[in-house]
This record gives sequence, C-alpha cells and structure tokens, in this order.
Amino acid sequence: MKVLVINSGSSSIKYQLLDTETEAVMVSGLVERIGEEMGDLKAKVYPDTDDEVVNKLHQPIPDHTTGMRLAIDLITDPEKGVLKDKSEIGAVGHRVVHGGEEFHKSIIITDEVIAAIEACIPLAPLHNPANLDGIRVAMDLFPDAPQVAVFDTAFHQTIPARAFMYALPYELYEEDRVRRYGFHGTSHKFVAGEMAAILGKPVEETNMITVHLGNGGSMTAVQNGKSIDTTMGMTPLEGLVMGTRSGDVDPALHTFLARNKNMDIEAIDTMLNKESGLKGLCGMNDMRDIHEAIAKGDKHAKIALDVQTYRNRKYIGAYMAVLGCIDAIVFTAGIGENDEIVRLESLRGLECFGVKIDEKVNDQRAKEPLKISTDDSTVAVWVIPTNEELAIARETKSVLNQ
Ligand code: AMP
Repeated sequence: MKVLVINSGSSSIKYQLLDTETEAVMVSGLVERIGEEMGDLKAKVYPDTDDEVVNKLHQPIPDHTTGMRLAIDLITDPEKGVLKDKSEIGAVGHRVVHGGEEFHKSIIITDEVIAAIEACIPLAPLHNPANLDGIRVAMDLFPDAPQVAVFDTAFHQTIPARAFMYALPYELYEEDRVRRYGFHGTSHKFVAGEMAAILGKPVEETNMITVHLGNGGSMTAVQNGKSIDTTMGMTPLEGLVMGTRSGDVDPALHTFLARNKNMDIEAIDTMLNKESGLKGLCGMNDMRDIHEAIAKGDKHAKIALDVQTYRNRKYIGAYMAVLGCIDAIVFTAGIGENDEIVRLESLRGLECFGVKIDEKVNDQRAKEPLKISTDDSTVAVWVIPTNEELAIARETKSVLNQ
C-alpha cells in the first residue's frame, strides 16, 4: 500500500509518500512559507530506487490546500511523478502533536476524533490547529482514503500517575487537565522497537532509556516496552536543555521576572521557548556551531555544552534509578545521531553503573544503527537513527489492518 504521511505546521507541510510493503520512500517534500508573499516547495522524488530527482517551486502558496495540491500534482506528474493518479494512495497518516488523555494509540480519523483533537487545542495552541488544517485538506483531496492520526503524546499514556501528576492543587488536573503528557512519542516508540529487535528480545521484555536529542530534546524511561516517565511535561518546554528552549527551571522564575523585570506572560513565554536553551546561553543553537566556537575558545559555548550534557546525565541517572535494571540506552535525532562529544559527555562517570563506551566506535558516523558500548558494558549503548515518517506509515498500516 502507498501511504502519504503528512506533518502539517502553521506555515509548512512536510510530507512523504512511502510504500509500506518495501518501506521505501517514493517522495519526500516540504512546502514552506504558506501564506507569505512567496512560498516554496521542494520535493525529492525517487522514480526508481537510486535516481533521486529534486523538484523546486517558488510561487505564492496562499493556503494549505494550495500547498497540498501542488505536492500531489508533482507526485502524479506524468514526467516527474511516481504515481499515475492520486487514487493510488491507499491511506494518509497524520502527525498530531497533542492527543491529551483521549488517545492512547493511533486511530482512524472520524468527526468525533476531529472534535477530540480540537478539544486539545488549549494544550497545544500552536500545533493542533495546524495539524487539523492538514487533516481537513487531506480529507478533501483524498475522500476515499482512510486518514489515520498518530499522536506525539500517545506512547506516553502508559506513564503512571506518580510520574504524570504535578504536585499542584488537584482541581487543576481534574478541571484543566494539567499534567505531564510527554512528546516525541512516535520517535521514542520507534527507536525502542528497533532496539529490542537488535537485541533479539520482545520489546515487552526490554527496559531502556531512549534519548531524543534534536533541536527539541526529550528522554524516556521505557519499561517492558512502555513509557513510564519522560522529561517533557504538559508542554514540550520541560526537561532537557534544547536548541532554544530552557527545559527545567525554577517555577518561581516567572514571578521573579514579572516582579523585577516587568515582563508579561507573552514575553516570558517567548523567552523560555525561543530565546533560551543553547541559544540563550551562547547565542547559537546548532551544536556544530557550538563545537566550532569552543575550539576557538568561546567560554559561553563551552558552558552551553556543559549545561546541556550535565542535564542529560542527570536524567539518565534518574531514569536508571526509576527502571532498576536496564538493557540499553539509545541516542537518536540530529544531535543524538551525529554528535559523539554530546554522547560521551552525557554518559561520563556512569562506568560504575555498567555503562562503558568504546570511544573509537563512538567517533564513527553511521546512517545505520551503531553500538557504541564495549562488549563488557552491562548496558548496551546504541545510536539508532529515528524515522518518524516511517513510524507513522507503519502505524497507519497497522491501524488499518486491525
Ligand atoms: P533534528 O531536530 O533532529 O533535525 O536535529 C537538529 C539539530 O541537530 C541541529 O540543530 C544541530 O544542533 C544538530 N546536528 C545536526 N547535524 C549535526 C552534526 N553533524 N553534528 C552535531 N550536531 C548536529
């Protein structure tokens, strides 16, 4: 079956067309700057296995419907495309950021599901409306294809109350659903499944810590294949030090900033989400730039690296305590897959907990899963590339098979 995977943002649509039999990507594209004066579409098309063709469009793209239509026109273009007709697309899989407590797994989209995703808008005011735009456009363009919602939060719905409750007045949970939800669930679940397969164990019998370090970052304690704690909270701001997000701070910070710096709620929100994290500490949010700056003696860059990797180490320690015995630690996403220094620093000092790294292997770059622990390490440490589009395509297929 051909599955179209859509990740719809407020002014962009990321999409991939995959063949679920072979798991090959047929098209991967990005529509950007929707609603601006000029928009862009860039799509890699794979007419046969290796012959990658890049198509680009630069024109006004007033709305998501136009963006998606342009993408489909390219997919079905007689010369540049890979399909004769859009009816060959058997299903559409949508990334949906927030499913609240409603959704524990992926689901076929109905009117009730759309209403429930709308009801989660207060919890994800930027993401869920954009995801819904993508769903509505796809339902219009593919009226006969089933549409499946795959939630970032669903994998974490197994987290027990002791880990998802904040120690706040209980009514805030009952009335306003204030609690930890966790995000990046599709990625954590995907790499956990891959890790168990590599270890040759059923995922239901595998304990591990999955470390997703990209521009956003989160870590999950996985017990017997299920998420039992994760660093992101009610929103994706809590937890690790990210590209521009602070992660954990003292909750009294807001009051301090309001009282002493005369900052209002919007200014504090912008600062914590867009001007903090690595960028706040050193002015750069790309790890490659930070390493270059450190090599030139930039002290702020060094502090940024130290604060991020220390926070990673602290949570790895916490999750080891939470899980007891663990089989593996898995690093994934942009930094996790590519940055040997961050991996090494995040694991420094954990030898007495059974974590031993082979530094030579850790220095290697690999597109495939790579074991970076030594053979006598009691905890296996792996780098496993994440693939959220493939994960969404697999989920879509599996929901339709049920
Ligand atoms: P992601 O959100 O998973 O796409 O990750 C993006 C982040 O990965 C970038 O902001 C960089 O900080 C980081 N990154 C990408 N490539 C490398 C690399 N070769 N070395 C270190 N960091 C990298």
